[in-house]
Amino acid sequence: MPTIPIKTDLLIIGGGINGVGIARDASGRGLSVMLVEQDELASHTSSASSKLIHGGLRYLEHGEFRLVREALRERSILLRLAPDLIRPLTFVLPHAPHVRPAWMIRLGLFLYDRLGPRGGLPASRAVDLAPGHFGDGLKSRFRRGFTYADAQVDDVGLVRANAIGARQRGADIRTHTRFISAHRIEDGWRAMVRSMETGTEFEVDARVVVNAAGPWVGSVLDLMAGSKPERPPRLVKGSHIVVRRMHAGDHAYILQNPDGRVVFAIPWQGEFTLIGTTDIEWTDDPSAPAITPQETAYLCDAVNEWFERPIGPADVIRSFSGIRSLYDDGKSSASQVTRDYVLAEGPHMLSVFGGKITTYRRLAEHALAKLERYFPDMTPEWTADAPLEEDPQCAT
Ligand SMILES: Cc1cc2nc3c(=O)[nH]c(=O)nc-3n(C[C@H](O)[C@H](O)[C@H](O)COP(=O)(O)OP(=O)(O)OC[C@H]3O[C@@H](n4cnc5c(N)ncnc54)[C@H](O)[C@@H]3O)c2cc1C
Repeated sequence: MPTIPIKTDLLIIGGGINGVGIARDASGRGLSVMLVEQDELASHTSSASSKLIHGGLRYLEHGEFRLVREALRERSILLRLAPDLIRPLTFVLPHAPHVRPAWMIRLGLFLYDRLGPRGGLPASRAVDLAPGHFGDGLKSRFRRGFTYADAQVDDVGLVRANAIGARQRGADIRTHTRFISAHRIEDGWRAMVRSMETGTEFEVDARVVVNAAGPWVGSVLDLMAGSKPERPPRLVKGSHIVVRRMHAGDHAYILQNPDGRVVFAIPWQGEFTLIGTTDIEWTDDPSAPAITPQETAYLCDAVNEWFERPIGPADVIRSFSGIRSLYDDGKSSASQVTRDYVLAEGPHMLSVFGGKITTYRRLAEHALAKLERYFPDMTPEWTADAPLEEDPQCAT
């Protein structure tokens, strides 16, 4: 017997940070929201990040001032709203004149300190890297460096907290539920979704569909009758390795690589150092990306250039990879493609390309601003002053 379609204002596809961020914001503004996630919440890109809430110092080199300014502002807001999930982290940047001259680093840090609010974090400064403290673990030839502050996040916890906040405001969040297809109806879309646990399919009539499917953003567009993306997203794999802790102290290192990229070495769960990332063009299925031996070698080499204790593949305790779905801005190199987000609009629909965990809250505000014409009675922005809900499973 045919079932009656469920009616909702927004159908959000994707339970990563962007999907749940939009769900929480929208449900707080009085919209009815259904979110479908084919796996668990945060089971893809949003749990494979470097776990930083950061302005993105290196993006300044690519002239991404809008993104850095917004990300720095978000950093200060999120530090205030989620102090249990997001903590300040000092970064040490050892100086190597053959990679970047000191004036360039000073200029970058000068801008980084001023482009957005610091939110109580200390300003950058030049430091001595003599053995002990900031020089700990580094080769003795690196004597000068700089410090600046950013923050570290429990990425899965942040997704869960947003989902809890959305649920508390009435959102219907369904995990293990896959969006299958959609076609246009008079005032929106009729979507078919399937429970991955029971195989049951049901229909949803949504005024607007929000495609926050991360690396599947292009595939989801293909499933929506008549909605072809202008350009398919650029999929870029990034991998991390975890090794036994490489230095004492609570600070992280940002290491300059001869190819112009940077690699982070971040204290991780007390005993470990998290090292990443790589930037590799990706054309396969995004479900289960894995690190290659070449990426492991690249990350070990990057660290071995700076640290006294050399590491190799045998030292890797764990690795994980994630896929960024970036807006294709035509750049040839995967590491240079913009990390900024683009919200692509179609009739009664919106697709999220790119973005950072750091900017998810503001991305949600931008997304809802674009949808205002469908929901003129929606209440105003509210999330900048509302502390994140506590997740009992993530209590520290
Ligand atoms: C290696 C790496 C390091 C990073 N480090 C940082 C960092 O330190 N700081 C930072 O701010 N950002 C970082 N990022 C960026 C950040 O992780 C991503 O921008 C963000 O997680 C993207 O979230 P999302 O919600 O768009 O995608 P995802 O988290 O991938 O969520 C999309 C979801 O959609 C679901 N989905 C897809 N198709 C369907 C369907 N048909 N039906 C139902 N569900 C579906 C998927 O299962 C998935 O869970 C990093 C990214 C990578 C790859």
